[in-house]
Order: sequence, then C-alpha cells, then structure tokens
Amino acid sequence: MNAGGVSAEEGGDPACWLGRVCPECGLFADEPAPTTCVRCGAELPAAEPEEE
Ligand SMILES: [Zn+2]
Repeated sequence: MNAGGVSAEEGGDPACWLGRVCPECGLFADEPAPTTCVRCGAELPAAEPEEE
C-alpha cells in the first residue's frame, strides 16, 4: 500500500563529509566548507578534490 515509495539516498561520497567536520571539536558543519565552526570558531578549509 505504499505507492510511489521512492527511497532517496542522500550523499554518497563520504569524502565530501570530511571537509565539513571541524578539525578542532569534530562538530559537523551545517554549511559546506569553507566555513567556520559554530561551536569553537575553527576554520574549516574547503575540501580539495584529489587529482592524480
Ligand atoms: Zn569546532
């Protein structure tokens, strides 16, 4: 009885999250980097894509 039950998978690349975790307190930033931690004020540098 669940018509149109589409499971939306969010995200996908865990690597994208790394740039959003505060290096100081580990808080997950609400905004994508670069941003500033709302808890401790540490700067979250933008995650650089790995290119080889
Ligand atoms: Zn922090």
